[in-house]
Amino acid sequence: MSYLSLTSLTKCYGPTTAAEDISLEIDKGEFVSLLGPSGCGKTTTLQMIAGFVEPTRGRILMDGDDITHRKPNERGIGIVFQSYALFPHMTVVDNVRFGLEMRRVPEAESRQRVGEVLELVHLDQLKDRYPRELSGGQRQRVALARALVIQPPLLLLDEPLSNLDAKLREDMQIELRNIQQQVGTTTLMVTHDQSEALSLSDRVVVMNQGRVVQVDEPFNAYERPSDAFVSSFVGKTNLLTGLIGKKQGDQTAIRLGDATLDLTLDGPRTSNQVQISIRPEKLELTDCASGKLKGRVKTRLFLGNHWLYQVDSSAGELFITQPNLGKVGVAVGDDVGVSWSPGAIRLLEEKVHG
Ligand code: ATP
Repeated sequence: MSYLSLTSLTKCYGPTTAAEDISLEIDKGEFVSLLGPSGCGKTTTLQMIAGFVEPTRGRILMDGDDITHRKPNERGIGIVFQSYALFPHMTVVDNVRFGLEMRRVPEAESRQRVGEVLELVHLDQLKDRYPRELSGGQRQRVALARALVIQPPLLLLDEPLSNLDAKLREDMQIELRNIQQQVGTTTLMVTHDQSEALSLSDRVVVMNQGRVVQVDEPFNAYERPSDAFVSSFVGKTNLLTGLIGKKQGDQTAIRLGDATLDLTLDGPRTSNQVQISIRPEKLELTDCASGKLKGRVKTRLFLGNHWLYQVDSSAGELFITQPNLGKVGVAVGDDVGVSWSPGAIRLLEEKVHG
């Protein structure tokens, strides 16, 4: 049985449905992310689990117990907010100890647990500082330590790294993943940052307009997006339209610009068009003669470890990334060919969200 189980969880604010029919099973020790654009219902879902928002419909089970209508402080859940919400007049050690005092944990045990958790987040040297004397990343770690010290069965993280600059954020992502794996706490994180969700999670729950669109392991969500929304929200992609042609056996000819692809369609289509997703890194620039599509380079950006090209092709505008192999490639205005291996093409389902 899963550790956290959401069944048809729904929240309506008057005419606005903030979260609709959210059903999800999370196993013990799993790190799961709710990923989606602003306003898609991530925080509302998290707040219903935390007990701060009363669901309009649906049920929440934690370790088999129905906690749907239980008060927040009776759920024993650890929460880290975007704002950290540290007590400014308390030192690091007092901030972390606070939750244990509330729970009347004996002094000796409290001292030991606070010491252990501060060591875990590498803050043992800074324990007597006040929040104002800490960097953003250090404050973030205090907030995490404060949530972890109560040894919560479930940890909820609401955009915990969003206040950090890019470099610190990357460091903290690695640290957060290590800490979570060491402690093994079942964790649900809200983020709108797809790379954060992909890098930290065992599974990602992609949401759009209050609904769950796809639940999958990060690799699958990226490689096998269920539709155009997931395809363009989880990583960058080229969304192209192909024209359905003749069928031969189980293969159907699809016209894409000046190229013809032989693909297997997953069922009857209601129109004569299909939507195709090709990731920029799965396209290859070739010379004009050997490419499947013909095009001309419109823009070229150097991004250190790779180049990003914008190419006007017969199938439409394409973004193409090429690894930096130590030499300057084709230039703006050059005529090029564009190629790919058969596995690069992802045929999308007809249903389009958003
Ligand atoms: P963000 O990434 O911007 O925080 P989110 O995905 O967490 O967005 P929610 O905060 O869950 O989105 O909001 C979902 C929808 O519900 C939005 O359209 C929002 O305007 C609406 N909403 C949230 N809280 C309330 C409220 N208290 N009253 C009315 N509408 C609300």
